[in-house]
Amino acid sequence: MDDQQKPDLPASYINSYSDTRGQTKAPLPFSSVIIQGLAEQGGLFVPDRLPHINLDEIVALAGLPYAERAAQIYYRFGVDFALDETQALMGLAYSGTFSSPDVAPVVQVADHTYLLELTHGPTSAFKDLALQCLPHFFTAAQDKAAGDSKSGMPLNLILVATSGDTGSAALAGFKDREHTALIVYYPKDGVSEIQMRQMATAEGSNLGVVAVNGNFDDCQNAVKAAFNDARFASSLADQNVQLSSANSINWGRLLPQVVYYVSAYAQLVAQSAITAGDRIDVSVPTGNFGNILAAWYAREIGTPIDRLYCASNENHVLTDFLNTGSYDISDRPFTLTPSPSMDILVSSNLERQLFELNGRDPELVKQWMGDLSERKAFHVDKTTFAALRDVFSADWVTNKESLETIKEVYESHRYLLDPHTAVAWKAAMRLRPSSDTPVLIASTAHWAKFGWDVYRALNDIDPGADLPAPVSGLSYTQLLSLIQADYATAPLPMALAGLEQKPIRFTEEAEGTSTGIEQTILDWLESS
Ligand SMILES: *Cc1c(COP(=O)(O)O)cnc(C)c1O
Repeated sequence: MDDQQKPDLPASYINSYSDTRGQTKAPLPFSSVIIQGLAEQGGLFVPDRLPHINLDEIVALAGLPYAERAAQIYYRFGVDFALDETQALMGLAYSGTFSSPDVAPVVQVADHTYLLELTHGPTSAFKDLALQCLPHFFTAAQDKAAGDSKSGMPLNLILVATSGDTGSAALAGFKDREHTALIVYYPKDGVSEIQMRQMATAEGSNLGVVAVNGNFDDCQNAVKAAFNDARFASSLADQNVQLSSANSINWGRLLPQVVYYVSAYAQLVAQSAITAGDRIDVSVPTGNFGNILAAWYAREIGTPIDRLYCASNENHVLTDFLNTGSYDISDRPFTLTPSPSMDILVSSNLERQLFELNGRDPELVKQWMGDLSERKAFHVDKTTFAALRDVFSADWVTNKESLETIKEVYESHRYLLDPHTAVAWKAAMRLRPSSDTPVLIASTAHWAKFGWDVYRALNDIDPGADLPAPVSGLSYTQLLSLIQADYATAPLPMALAGLEQKPIRFTEEAEGTSTGIEQTILDWLESS
């Protein structure tokens, strides 16, 4: 990429957004797109222009605190908040809220192999990086929208359907935010015990957590149906309540993720792991395509990233797509794996990537997404496929291989990976063109969130197999102490270690129907 060819955006530029299906007629600023979440008719918001950040500026970021790096990148993206306000909001998001002062540190684990640790937030998964940030901008955007008439400000009620990590990270991020309430819905039998406890013990006066009868699809469909119920929305509007969404298609969750890839490159240079300008490859364990898309944006704005490795588990629709150009779920079973946050068949953020690489053509996107909903498959054209192949390599890892990788990496390097990160590690080892290509692997969860499978991995027990007595009878805290004593050196995250002592606050259950979900909303409004 030639720095000369891409003029920088002027310093005070306010960027506008349109959407992947071409429905946004009057382009919107950042503050509006984060409140709106999803564009009309299902499109996803994308910035109209991308900044270009040159190498010197990227390298210089390493000298700044993380919050300041984030503010600089937001500023360059043309958000409609002044730099000093952005800096203040980033301070709230990242100063003192993460267990590492570096927020997203880069550590070398093997030769030319680095982990970007995204696991130091309050819920020990990478979604904290976005969900510690978005709520502050959300509040600021509400204030901006209300102008001087704060008395009539609506309550933004955010609904989140989660298969695990998003729920707890959203609860931690939105807790006690003014003018905002959050209700999280999770499938009653579809989350791990520790994930359930992280949600059901959440503290904060503006929160609700509901267990929905059914699987994750039932839960998500019911929440979507409640969202799209116009009569229900107008009855809520009478009470000055507005429904919003905070799932990973919200641009306000993507932009914080772009920050850590740029930041990681600056850190690698500062640590003398690479020389400024060297290209690195990045490997990302992928589900909804949000995290890897953020790496693509980081590359596009000037970070010297060569290839992106899209790593999947046994639900490998993305691997097949990136290797064939055909996205096909018409005859694809849904498999349970040790990396549940990647157990996804419809990868919603892929739509943004397709738009960015098809010449930003909303008509093509509409056609593909229409095919996907009607025929459960779509096929991209040759040019778009070539553009994808130009950047992405893809591979998938079996359940057994993912657990074997945890053991191998521990034995060779004394580092404990969680099962999601293990998928990205294994894929990176297969996809890197040579053993001296520098690879940055996104570490998306702390191993202690997935203790049972980590125990299986370390003791050569097959995925899904029963654990032997007496381990099978241990409490989660006991299990973690056992693994900690034998294998790990770093202390456990406080929030995970103390979970079993925290009182369960939320026990409500609901049917997986729009009426069931709507009733929980009415109950919640009544009791608050
Ligand atoms: C959500 C999640 C992923 C997948 O990220 P996407 O942005 O959906 O691709 C991977 N690992 C962990 C631990 C997660 O929580």
